Amino acid sequence: MVTLPPVPLASGARRRLGATPVEIGDRVLERLRDACPAVEEGEEARLGAARDWWPLSLHWAREGLVPALPGAVARPESTAQVAGVVAICAKHGVPVTVVAGRSGVCGGAVPAYGGLALDLVGLAGVEEVDVRSLLVRVAAGTFGLDLEGALREGHGLTLGHWPQSIQLSTVGGWLACRSAGQYSTRYGKIEDMVTGLQVVLASGQVVETGGRAPRAATGPDLNQLFVGSEGTLGVITKAWLRAHPRPPCERMGAWGFAAFDAGLEACRRALRRGATPAVLRLYDRAEASRHFGAEEDGVLIALDEGDQLVVEAAMTVLAEECRAAGGRPLGEGLVRRWLETRNDVPPLAALTEAGIVVDTVEVAGRWSVLAALYHRGTEALASVEGTVAASAHLSHAYLDGACLYFTFAGQGRDDPEWAEGYYRAAWDAIMGATLSSGAAISHHHGIGLNRGRFLAAGLGPAFPVLVRLKEALDPAGILNPGKLGLPSRFGPLPWP
Ligand SMILES: Cc1cc2nc3c(=O)[nH]c(=O)nc-3n(C[C@H](O)[C@H](O)[C@H](O)COP(=O)(O)OP(=O)(O)OC[C@H]3O[C@@H](n4cnc5c(N)ncnc54)[C@H](O)[C@@H]3O)c2cc1C
Repeated sequence: MVTLPPVPLASGARRRLGATPVEIGDRVLERLRDACPAVEEGEEARLGAARDWWPLSLHWAREGLVPALPGAVARPESTAQVAGVVAICAKHGVPVTVVAGRSGVCGGAVPAYGGLALDLVGLAGVEEVDVRSLLVRVAAGTFGLDLEGALREGHGLTLGHWPQSIQLSTVGGWLACRSAGQYSTRYGKIEDMVTGLQVVLASGQVVETGGRAPRAATGPDLNQLFVGSEGTLGVITKAWLRAHPRPPCERMGAWGFAAFDAGLEACRRALRRGATPAVLRLYDRAEASRHFGAEEDGVLIALDEGDQLVVEAAMTVLAEECRAAGGRPLGEGLVRRWLETRNDVPPLAALTEAGIVVDTVEVAGRWSVLAALYHRGTEALASVEGTVAASAHLSHAYLDGACLYFTFAGQGRDDPEWAEGYYRAAWDAIMGATLSSGAAISHHHGIGLNRGRFLAAGLGPAFPVLVRLKEALDPAGILNPGKLGLPSRFGPLPWP
């Protein structure tokens, strides 16, 4: 079930973004209903599909504003219905924005130019499990907890994908945004788990990418063309994902460091030795104090699960490297505390109602720039007028680098104009620090509307390749227009 963002909307909410909405004519609506009987035009349905969890839009909601409004919402229950709807929209030039769990935090599911919101949560369920090959076929609108529950209870398996939003988000949303779960160091991100996709193209044609065999050398990996495309290149309707046996063993540990950089070094060195504990999270002083009441400049929590021999080897290597980097063991209690609260939704509503602007920014950098990126990023955020907090933690780590997850909060005049000005300045600061460090502007939240203005700089000379892919796969430009900073035929970019 969709959990709407925490600041409620009264009826009569108006659009904040200026793009002129595309209306859907009565004849087209009739044709859409022939293809998919559930097409709603009521205000409740349209408001429900007008926003996601983009934190700035929570401030707008206080003023009775939504980012944008669709003309109608279609709720297909099969791939054939999705294909029919998309083909009609392509023929009549109607924008189609896929909405699923709507837990995205970048405005990705906002129907920027109106048109049709295509709600995929009716496409739900685990369709096939090949226990011997550890492969599962699942419909794209399936919510994370439903999939994990079905795998655990029905088959003794786990996907190993635990985004904090597991109960708010769907498989299709994960794939569209390149999602990362909290256990990613052992299991990988969603792009490492996918082996095949069913996709409805902008023409309405249905294709399957990926094979029934691992690591096929059959040209470029077409799965990865659609993974991360955020609904701009095709509509994902099914996915084949790799699962794992339910883990029989779990071990955990925590260490305190005299400097955040020393904790980074311990993680880097453990990974070089082949130790990949599922959870590896290193908090800076501000966050260690906020989450654990700790007084260290770096607190690392780690947890591994799986085969006992493998898990004990990984945790032994990590403990050795923590000791070598000057880490002080803090005991399992910290990890247990994190486990109890790890999926709690942050108090966004209360902060927003108090006029405080908060957001999180996850970026990815290689080890050789990571410590500098941490310092540059927190300093850049702290230097923005109005900032009352700027902090970061390492949340996902790999052989070659890691994700740094920054949090900022600002307070000033309690009005939406100030909130918007501060918000843009904070994003300019952290994106500037990221780009000048040679790091990637997102690790797992994706681009959506908010980060669209930075993607051309993020991709550099490769950005026009993305533009040409979009033109080739979606010549009418109907799929999620206004996102990823791609030019739109429906008008100027909504959040330039
Ligand atoms: C409290 C909270 C915690 C979060 N924690 C995490 C976390 O730990 N890790 C993480 O990765 N993310 C996290 N997120 C972000 C969010 O949950 C993810 O981006 C998630 O992948 C979005 O899934 P969704 O089903 O809600 O998609 P939506 O928000 O509905 O859509 C997101 C984007 O994907 C497109 N899309 C959705 N489904 C499809 C489809 N089937 N085909 C094509 N395009 C599609 C939409 O058009 C949109 O552009 C968090 C969000 C919140 C609010």
